[in-house]
Amino acid sequence: MLELGRSSCGRCDHELNHSLHKCEGCQGTIVYGATGEEVAKSANNWSILFGHSAALVNYVLPYIINSGWSSEIPLGWGFGEWAIFGVGAGLLWGYLIGTERAYAVHFLDVRTFHYV
Ligand SMILES: [Zn+2]
Repeated sequence: MLELGRSSCGRCDHELNHSLHKCEGCQGTIVYGATGEEVAKSANNWSILFGHSAALVNYVLPYIINSGWSSEIPLGWGFGEWAIFGVGAGLLWGYLIGTERAYAVHFLDVRTFHYV
């Protein structure tokens, strides 16, 4: 059962008060929610995924369509050099989604770390 403001240490089972950042039992560092590293990693991964997807849609898809159906769709769908902003938007969107995902996945997590 989840009790607001209280839980126990994942390492030593010592009861934690939700304002402390160090376990009184094992002296581990208590992290509430996602760690900065988890957020950065998730943001990075999703950013790469969305950025690459946008690049594929903008530059590879027209090429594939053109070679398959002998059409002449310009790379970047006629937006010229502006199509790179689509890739930038993909990177940014992925970054935001990745950040949000990390917070959502680790929402309510209370973990104790021992940094060496
Ligand atoms: Zn502990």
